[in-house]
Amino acid sequence: MEQLLEQKLQEKFGKTIDAAANEEIYTALLCITKEKMQGMKRNEGKKKLYYISAEFLIGKLLSNNLINLGLFDETKEVLKKHGHSITEIEEMENEPSLGNGGLGRLAACFLDSIATLGLCGDGVGLNYHEGLFRQTFADNKQREVPNPWITDDSWLIKTNRSFQVPFKDFTLTSVMYDIDVPGYENGCNRLHLFDVDTVDESIIGDGIDFDKTDIRRNLTLFLYPDDSDEQGQLLRIYQQYFMVSNAAQLILKEAEEKGYDLYRLHEHVAVQINDTHPTMVIPELIRLLMERGFNMDTAIDVVRKTCAYTNHTILAEALEKWPVRYLEKVVPHLLSIIRELDARVRRDYHDERVYIIDKQDRVHMAHIDIHFGYAVNGVAALHTQILKESELKPFYDIYPEKFNNKTNGITFRRWLVHCNQELAGYLKELIGPGYIKDAAELEKLLQYKDDGAVLKKLREIKKHSKEELRDYLKLTQDVDIDPDSVFDIQIKRLHEYKRQQMNALYAIYKYKEIKKGNLPKRPITMIFGAKAAPAYVIAKDIIHLLLCLQQLIDSDPAVNKYLKLVMVENYNVTKAEKLIPACDISEQISLASKEASGTGNMKFMLNGAVTLGTEDGANVEIHELVGDDSIYIFGKKSEEVIHLYDTASYCSKDIYENDPQIEELVDFIISKDLIRIGDPVNLGRLYKELVSKDWFMTLLDLKDYIQTKERMLADYEDAAAWEKKMLVNIAKAGYFSADRTIAEYNKDIWHLS
Ligand SMILES: *Cc1c(COP(=O)(O)O)cnc(C)c1O
Repeated sequence: MEQLLEQKLQEKFGKTIDAAANEEIYTALLCITKEKMQGMKRNEGKKKLYYISAEFLIGKLLSNNLINLGLFDETKEVLKKHGHSITEIEEMENEPSLGNGGLGRLAACFLDSIATLGLCGDGVGLNYHEGLFRQTFADNKQREVPNPWITDDSWLIKTNRSFQVPFKDFTLTSVMYDIDVPGYENGCNRLHLFDVDTVDESIIGDGIDFDKTDIRRNLTLFLYPDDSDEQGQLLRIYQQYFMVSNAAQLILKEAEEKGYDLYRLHEHVAVQINDTHPTMVIPELIRLLMERGFNMDTAIDVVRKTCAYTNHTILAEALEKWPVRYLEKVVPHLLSIIRELDARVRRDYHDERVYIIDKQDRVHMAHIDIHFGYAVNGVAALHTQILKESELKPFYDIYPEKFNNKTNGITFRRWLVHCNQELAGYLKELIGPGYIKDAAELEKLLQYKDDGAVLKKLREIKKHSKEELRDYLKLTQDVDIDPDSVFDIQIKRLHEYKRQQMNALYAIYKYKEIKKGNLPKRPITMIFGAKAAPAYVIAKDIIHLLLCLQQLIDSDPAVNKYLKLVMVENYNVTKAEKLIPACDISEQISLASKEASGTGNMKFMLNGAVTLGTEDGANVEIHELVGDDSIYIFGKKSEEVIHLYDTASYCSKDIYENDPQIEELVDFIISKDLIRIGDPVNLGRLYKELVSKDWFMTLLDLKDYIQTKERMLADYEDAAAWEKKMLVNIAKAGYFSADRTIAEYNKDIWHLS
């Protein structure tokens, strides 16, 4: 590596390692890594997977790629020898902003595991130039600005693949970019990102505003452009069709190049539809096969045996339903096929709940996937059970054989080996390096659960991570946090069902307790990180509340010695990698039944944090694995919550009016203390939302949450017992390796080899 780096720096910049700037070293390493990957063995097989996803939240790639290539340690040493740290060099890389949250991160973890297992499978998505958005804070509010991440030297490789994508009024020519995805000690796959040459950043005005009708220039500018108006929704349809038409054309082109018989496409291709955004790939494949001479029956039959669908949510708003009128405006040639699919459903089933086009002339994308795909999976055991028993029951009654569970997972290469090098190294010492590829080996750690020296070392490593986070936050946001305090962390997209507002009410509770003189045994550092969708009003109000609380607590000398609240700006993968190793308490407090799985919860446990959560999503499986002693569960169970919805019998106002403690906490949102700092419109709206609606039942679980968290904080003081909980969490995290998840997808759904 030293020689390679010298050479590359000479060639590109005429400099030695010692004389080169960090940015130049980064660029040289990027080029070296790219070249290495181009020379790698490709994972091949007689059947290939196409994983289509609107999001791939891949994070920075340099270190991860070096790890998978087996070059990380050596590179780190070379840099050190020349007075550089790999961390400094990592800082030079822009994080690609191609995803939004869990679903996109899952797609990224899956690509890593697919390659690592040596399976033949590529990702297909879009190359958003400005990504989601970059979040900044001003006046205690979220602001959105563009997040340009593509630089001259980047991981993107421009290919000469290009397709014509027909819309109603015009046709666009696509360009395909590739990012290589190296497996850990295995072959290489690719992520294909489609784009158009005509995209034009100069149409972006204030913040992230732009002309939503100028499709040629805006198509791949942003991920999830605001769709609160018709123009925004049309743009999303343009994006989705552009993505899947390219995917479908690529699939058929590759099949033809390999000389496959398209009538046996399903023997050579599996298509995984990640949530409903890529659903139009089904009618598009049918259309393209018919162009190649298939009749409708045969085209449908082949496509049905090729496509599988992953459901990620039971939230109604996230199950896409496009008005027929909109599809007519953008892709009329698909609409005729969708109408035919709907007619077939109506012919076979006389239950309007399973129709594709409903009475209000809306196309239910998930219904296309379920009828015209061969597998439907949920992403955690509880979630799949809810799909079968309630959300998708009419479908489950028709197609019980299609439904299956694939509990999510995370790649341990990024979420342990890279982000927590000290812990990963220590685990290697204790149980050998096997766990990196065979995560179940982490259980070997259990033999040390009463070993004082091992437990002490785990705590020491945690302390080091907390110190690193302290330094990082000082550098990036100029805040001071105390590594001797308890780090209580909630990082995830801001959504009412994830209930950051409940944690905010805890902060109010603690603030008031401290004011009354009930001091905590140890200072508490509450850390939040979350982006809110630009048009999600209440979510932004919650961010406003958190930022106001941060200011209130900071400026109160009677409180700030015992409590600190920090909102991390622009939460993304890079920040997650710094925050997760430093966490003591992992907040997973969704309303039971609403969090399909979660993957943040898995990252935290793997890094020795203890979960405080509801019995929801993968928390249920975490609970089963670690046992009652190593997790803190509170709140109503999913059946009770579903019953409350079914009977419409939850009333937040009753709780508010009948419980003085809850009333006091909620009232604080519009107290003089906070209104002085914040905006009465935002705070007033949030207050009203909680008291008069509270759709996600925050007040229902609030008391139990506060009590459970207090018990957890008390338990934290029993150092030995806590260390054991840490160890058990790490040891039991193996089940949540994405390698296990992908092996199951392959065995039950894809059958690649
Ligand atoms: C893992 C991850 C998520 C998902 O977190 P959840 O707590 O499962 O919602 C979201 N964003 C980033 C950056 C992540 O790394």
